[in-house]
Amino acid sequence: MSDQNPLFIPGPTNIPERLRRAVDVPSMDHRSARFADMLTPVKDGLRQVLKTQSGEVVIFPASGTGGWEASITNTLSPGDKILAARYGMFSHRWIDLCQRHGLKVEIIEEEWGNGAPADRFEEVLAADQHHEIKAVLACHNETATGVRSDIAALRKAMDGAKHPAMLFVDGVSSIASMDFRMDEWGVDLAVTGSQKGFMLPTGAAIVGISQKALKAMETAKCPRCYFDFRDMLSSNANGGYPYTPPLNLLSALPVSLEMLLGEGLPNVFARHHRIAEGIRSAVRAWGLKICASSPRLYSETVTAICVPQGFDSNQIVSHAADKYGVAFGVGLGQVAGRVFRIGHLGSMTDVMALSGIATAEMVMADLDYPIALGSGVAAAQEYYRSTCHAASLGASHAA
Ligand SMILES: *Cc1c(COP(=O)(O)O)cnc(C)c1O
Repeated sequence: MSDQNPLFIPGPTNIPERLRRAVDVPSMDHRSARFADMLTPVKDGLRQVLKTQSGEVVIFPASGTGGWEASITNTLSPGDKILAARYGMFSHRWIDLCQRHGLKVEIIEEEWGNGAPADRFEEVLAADQHHEIKAVLACHNETATGVRSDIAALRKAMDGAKHPAMLFVDGVSSIASMDFRMDEWGVDLAVTGSQKGFMLPTGAAIVGISQKALKAMETAKCPRCYFDFRDMLSSNANGGYPYTPPLNLLSALPVSLEMLLGEGLPNVFARHHRIAEGIRSAVRAWGLKICASSPRLYSETVTAICVPQGFDSNQIVSHAADKYGVAFGVGLGQVAGRVFRIGHLGSMTDVMALSGIATAEMVMADLDYPIALGSGVAAAQEYYRSTCHAASLGASHAA
């Protein structure tokens, strides 16, 4: 494996040199005024990325999964009913986590490759006349299938059913890479992690909390200790932490935020779209199918690609790693062996994307796939060169 090759998995992402340096700081006293001075602007910047003015934000030393657990345990009680759709490994895992906490999950089963079905949410919510459903869960960007769900449509469905449930959104692989609007969409809990759109190492779970969720926190009875919002919020209010914070990540987050906000979120989203579109044009040139069932569902951060009948997608991933030292994502759960994934979130340039496409072609040719070397590369080259302007080399690529 060469550590000079970019990663093509949807998190952890490639870490820009500037952020690798920003993580490399000496220890500091987390009970000092200096720490307090660092924390406030980080939380303000995260609010900007989440697009919330009225909400709170907390940062736990955990991966994104810890953010899921924090969301659930701080706002719900065992036996509470919640509504969720399952359409991939990540929506499945969040449901599993809720069940293990004793929540009753009403599950809308959706074909993998589709997104959260707003119309079916509306039906179920409208039928819930006694408002037993306390929360609606959705995975904004299902990383297993490369499917983006329409959270604004889900909010509309909830409003259409005049249902007071809270809306919890897994934004782990979308926030900071794809348009996300916590306040406008009425999201009560938004979860992400440092190792995806923020381009940092793993270890900080970031959770946006609405005022409504803060109110639910007061009466929620799920057991919690390490992830208790109340301890975190009261410590943060005094510029501190209830325990040792992930100092290196908190030191680097201001730099990550400066890169994202300096480039401008609309530009960050446009850059992800463009990189993704180039990769999708390669997939089309290969004659392969994208797992997402319609273009309006295409994720801008990961593309899951279906392999033809008779091929095993796991072999693509292992062969790419063994022979070329390049990491692609495997198929997970129901689509294991049937799709491989090209992750394209965080720090990525046209040139990096082209190298991933070229590598995938070599791998498929080695494995006797019916594809012509250079076909996907040529399609992506055409797309990138016809849409490239200097501005698309965003701030995040200046080391
Ligand atoms: C990566 C990911 C997670 C899990 O996050 P971890 O940081 O691995 O705990 C959850 N949801 C989605 C959509 C993800 O992409």
